[in-house]
Amino acid sequence: MSSSVATLDKIVALCKRRGFVYPSAEIYSGLNGVYDFGPLGTVLKNTIKRLWLAQMTSFAQEVLLLDGAILGASEVWKASGHVENFSDPMVDCLVCKKRYRADDVDLEKNCPHCGNKQWTDVRQFQLMFQTSLGALADSTNIAYLRPETAQSIFVNFKNVMSTNRVKIPFGIAQIGKAFRNEITPKQFLFRMREFEQMEMEFFCKGQDADSFFDLWCQRRLAFFHDLGLKQDRVRLRPHAADELAHYSKACNDVEYEFPFGWKELEGIANRADFDLTQHSKFSGKDLAVFDEETKTSYMPHVVESSVGVERLFLTLLFDAYDEEAVDGEVRTVLRFHPKVAPYAAAVMPLSNKLHDQAHALFVNLKKAGFSVQYDDSGSIGKRYRRQDEIGTPVCFTFDFDSLEDNKVTARNRDTMQQERVAIDQLEHYVRDMMTKACFL
Ligand code: ATP
Repeated sequence: MSSSVATLDKIVALCKRRGFVYPSAEIYSGLNGVYDFGPLGTVLKNTIKRLWLAQMTSFAQEVLLLDGAILGASEVWKASGHVENFSDPMVDCLVCKKRYRADDVDLEKNCPHCGNKQWTDVRQFQLMFQTSLGALADSTNIAYLRPETAQSIFVNFKNVMSTNRVKIPFGIAQIGKAFRNEITPKQFLFRMREFEQMEMEFFCKGQDADSFFDLWCQRRLAFFHDLGLKQDRVRLRPHAADELAHYSKACNDVEYEFPFGWKELEGIANRADFDLTQHSKFSGKDLAVFDEETKTSYMPHVVESSVGVERLFLTLLFDAYDEEAVDGEVRTVLRFHPKVAPYAAAVMPLSNKLHDQAHALFVNLKKAGFSVQYDDSGSIGKRYRRQDEIGTPVCFTFDFDSLEDNKVTARNRDTMQQERVAIDQLEHYVRDMMTKACFL
């Protein structure tokens, strides 16, 4: 196990305290498995999505973007196999009525909640949220909230190809909401009922699928390292043959070592031609592609990369969380890589008399495109601690000497070291820090 001081309870409390994440509808006692993101959480989510898109669209081959609908026609989910197969086994305790995923409890033992041993039979529980379109609630109007974003990529494959003059190999990437009626949402953002996915489907010839699969595994690992995640807590775990979905040729999970064990962060799969073949069959529209060289048609194969925004959000928090004793007190610090931190810098006047000068500096950094916070309440020490706790990598303090030497004190979050930096160098200072591979 890793020696992290982070626990789920500490992360949940920090998220609430500092405005990263709130339980949804908290004043009405919340909605299980659903969360709202506060100001800092929204910035962090947007950063995650921006960095993901940057990696996707910088690939040598074309990767185009899509924004598909959340409501999905039932035909789509029949073709994909979700209507029939997307379910988890569940059992209920007959005494306290608590519901469990059958693979989470030992049915030979007593209910962990009430201690009795009277279980219902194991039943399959459909994980998709079903709704009906329009006024008539009959079977012809059934629609589903999508449980993954990938299917809208497959059903739009031909549209995207024909309207963008792209040739195989190319990818389609999408970020969007997904919904799963998880039987037992748990571990905070790890298993939610409403979440966002970042998915990319890469279409290629069958004979190239293995090498694109390897390439995307390497690229995705590099992405997580680049975000600053500790290398010894990230690993690629190939699925064993009996673990593979029936349509999958190969699958690697990117796993992270959470305090509750090694868990999937992202799935990378070689899905062969399963998806396009299924949709061709069910829709009656041929999704095969004509090869100009061989003058034959073929069904493209697909390499998929799929990760949850919030699961990565939680991972970044666990990875960055640290505590250390400073002057007899515990200092809590999020050691985010500067490009991940919600604020790149904080600007502080030493005294309220210096508000105008410090505030002008803050506005300049904002205009330069950086996310910065102005903080003028409480002692400087308290302000530093507040910024440490939200992961701000540097604080610039404007003091009385600044009036003379046109410099501010730059205080480093990780080392707590201070240095004087010329005001006209601040933009450069922040930019330099954000592009460094490693902060310390
Ligand atoms: P798990 O085994 O954890 O249920 P899965 O194999 O069903 O996951 P996929 O269908 O492969 O998950 O989904 C791809 C990614 O979407 C996951 O790696 C995860 O990052 C994210 N994800 C899936 N379900 C949830 C959820 N309920 N809450 C948050 N993120 C999720």
